[in-house]
Amino acid sequence: MRQRWLLLVVAVPIYTFALMVLTTVVIGAIAVEDRTSIDWAQYPSEVLAAIGKDEWWAMFGIPAVVIVVTQAVFLIPMFSKRPPRGERSMSLLLSLVIAAAVAAMLTFALMLGVIEFVQTVLEASLDLDDTLAMTVLVAALVGSWGFWSGILLVFSRGIWADRALGRIVGLLVGGTLLEVLVVLPLDIMVRRRTDCYCFAGTFFALCLAVIATLWLAGPGVVIALMSKKHRLWRETHCERCGYAKGPSPGPKCPECSYAWVGQ
Ligand SMILES: [Zn+2]
Repeated sequence: MRQRWLLLVVAVPIYTFALMVLTTVVIGAIAVEDRTSIDWAQYPSEVLAAIGKDEWWAMFGIPAVVIVVTQAVFLIPMFSKRPPRGERSMSLLLSLVIAAAVAAMLTFALMLGVIEFVQTVLEASLDLDDTLAMTVLVAALVGSWGFWSGILLVFSRGIWADRALGRIVGLLVGGTLLEVLVVLPLDIMVRRRTDCYCFAGTFFALCLAVIATLWLAGPGVVIALMSKKHRLWRETHCERCGYAKGPSPGPKCPECSYAWVGQ
């Protein structure tokens, strides 16, 4: 137990720092106009010089910490003593809300990309004043967060929490991939048509897709590693009360008289 904590204390900061470096490299590679010109040996020092050391810690450190904390909270139902049951629990609800935030981020990114593309093609800018634009963006973000929370709640009803979380991560990975496939060609077209690529919506859309991918990778690996253990537990225990079935189980649980399926 103590070793496990020691491992966590060492592993979590290393993991967080690795996330910071990864996001810097990938987002930097998206931002650069001519990727063949990148000198990867010089790249870290150039990025630090361009952004500034203190700014880099804040710009990439805060998102990395947010990623690690939300990933950990998302995975709490996977680490309960027994495999989580399909019923509503506070920890599962929290996981769903966090997954919905990732889905909302992807929806938001798609919106940014499409708006940018339409503006570039029509050579018109949506001349909204800043407060109105900000209000619309925040409302869209909060709205889709609520929408996805509801969808995921319905989706996970009546199935085991570990299966629900596994399927949700799978769906989000698929969604991210689809989004990149849609936004990447839009981004290329936007780049061809604009002189200043500095605040392109398609760029932000790709950055958010990168963050979503990095976010999903952690829980994806953890859920895959734990799925066998959970399946084994379900096969050998009563699903309702956790009674150990033994070598020749009857049709019903002797503890809670729950009718076992598949016996
Ligand atoms: Zn039972």
